[in-house]
Amino acid sequence: MEPMDEINEIVAIRRLNHYYGTGALRKQILFDINFHLTAGEVVLMKGPSGSGKTTLLTLMGALRSAQEGQLRVLGQELVSASKGELVRLRRNIGYIFQGHNLLNSLTARQNVQMAAELHPVSHRQAQAQAAAILTAVGLADHIDYYPSQMSGGQKQRVAIARALVSHPKMILADEPTAALDGQSGRAVVELIQQLAKDQGCASLIVTHDNRILDIADRLVHLEDGHLKEVRDRAHATT
Ligand code: ADP
Ligand code: MG
Repeated sequence: MEPMDEINEIVAIRRLNHYYGTGALRKQILFDINFHLTAGEVVLMKGPSGSGKTTLLTLMGALRSAQEGQLRVLGQELVSASKGELVRLRRNIGYIFQGHNLLNSLTARQNVQMAAELHPVSHRQAQAQAAAILTAVGLADHIDYYPSQMSGGQKQRVAIARALVSHPKMILADEPTAALDGQSGRAVVELIQQLAKDQGCASLIVTHDNRILDIADRLVHLEDGHLKEVRDRAHATT
């Protein structure tokens, strides 16, 4: 590998397999996956329900132990990695998963601040960072609102701010626009793209939303546990 490739490599997957269950119930879910993600790239992943998209995302996000093959994320091999290695890696990853998982007892700022405080910053710095990123996602006038006082789109923006506040090297988003109308869905994805590019991080976005295909640098398709690069975008909407 060239030194430049090494610097820009965020994810390198080779011949990855994944299984759920044990013994007679063991079932293979991911088959011989090969995939690369480079700094600054936005890659969209499509594919039918049940094809293994969320499983692959949680493996790349160090949220689940990798079993077989090679899965290198930010220079760390995750197959046979220890729990401690997985936990350490998670600090460098921004997660935007369905249901946005905001804490209802905390304001928008406090939800975002909590993520900022996973890193060595002062309380005051974390507070300022939270306010700045909420402003960047268009929520300057909702900083002290509680989730119950915000719309679905606004809550999703808080979740994005939370994922981005600590400058992750990678963003993993699982159907981030599923609960949003077309316009706010588009706005949310453009935010991920813009902030990701500004911060030089890579993002992998699982989506069924054909209206946002054009923001991708690359498209991949996962079906029945097999991953394919989509070369022809004209056929990507099927
Ligand atoms: P997708 O996100 O593409 O809909 P998933 O990764 O959620 O696909 O699921 C892929 C397959 O693995 C499905 O058949 C699902 O039922 C199964 N599956 C998902 N999570 C688990 C689990 N924790 N234990 C056992 N089977 C699972
Ligand atoms: Mg899923």
